[in-house]
Amino acid sequence: MGRFDGRVAVVTGAARGIGFGTATRFAEEGASVAIIDLDETAAAQAAAKLPVIDGAKAVGIGADVSDAESVDAAVERVVGELGGIHVLVNNAGITRDNLLFKMTEQDWDLVMGVHLKGAFLMTKAAQKHFVEQKYGKIVNLSSVSALGNRGQANYSAAKMGVQGFTRTLGIELGPFGINANAVAPGFIATEMTDATAARLKMDVEEFRKLNAEANPVRRVGFPEDIAAAVAFLASDEASYITGQTLYVDGGAKLG
Ligand code: NAP
Repeated sequence: MGRFDGRVAVVTGAARGIGFGTATRFAEEGASVAIIDLDETAAAQAAAKLPVIDGAKAVGIGADVSDAESVDAAVERVVGELGGIHVLVNNAGITRDNLLFKMTEQDWDLVMGVHLKGAFLMTKAAQKHFVEQKYGKIVNLSSVSALGNRGQANYSAAKMGVQGFTRTLGIELGPFGINANAVAPGFIATEMTDATAARLKMDVEEFRKLNAEANPVRRVGFPEDIAAAVAFLASDEASYITGQTLYVDGGAKLG
């Protein structure tokens, strides 16, 4: 028996990276899974690769999490095609890094739009169903960058905003059988960190090696590390945990 048998899990930004790793974990543990990503073809191709267990389904849906109409239509499609919604993982994300004096208003708005407004819109659309059924699990992706990171004023503010949003969801939605928590990853090897290497004009492997050497556990993280934490927080084993942010970073910010 899987921890998510009979459940429907939605993961945004899951065509690749941490989102795909998390969607895979839910599928392995019995859930039907909806992958939401900007490009419907990429989302559908990723969904087709999920190791769904007999009787469960996977679907890929194209939607922009920062657009209310797109979000509402996507959540209704999930409920229509998979028969409900029980778990929401707000994972979709972008970076537009620059030092403050060079950061444009557009780059500020874009980052806030995807991380913060995106999580707000998705959660608002899903909570309607969660409240009706008196059951729901929300896991939001924050980051160690919430604690401050050079060149990421927009991203840090959004990721700390996610933590405040999560605490408030815990307070408001707890009485309705809904848990909301956040996971704050450290350095995870994905296209997002590969893009950072490119921006710093560094070789990807060299960049990963440097980050591994600087980390207390002497390695970088992988999508599976985050998926394991998200799955725990979304499981019934974690039903007395809400409003929390779990740092999954190999101890990166301990020093
Ligand atoms: P990634 O590989 O860049 O994947 C992000 C996915 O989100 C992409 O498929 C992207 O689609 C999608 N996306 C972007 N904007 C979207 C929107 N408006 N609507 C729907 N989907 C959208 O990133 P990742 O490294 O897996 O990161 C996943 C999450 O973890 C993000 O929230 C990120 O901030 C957080 N995080 C990552 C790290 C890390 O080290 N990697 C560390 C801390 C936190 P397109 O490809 O079409 O743009």
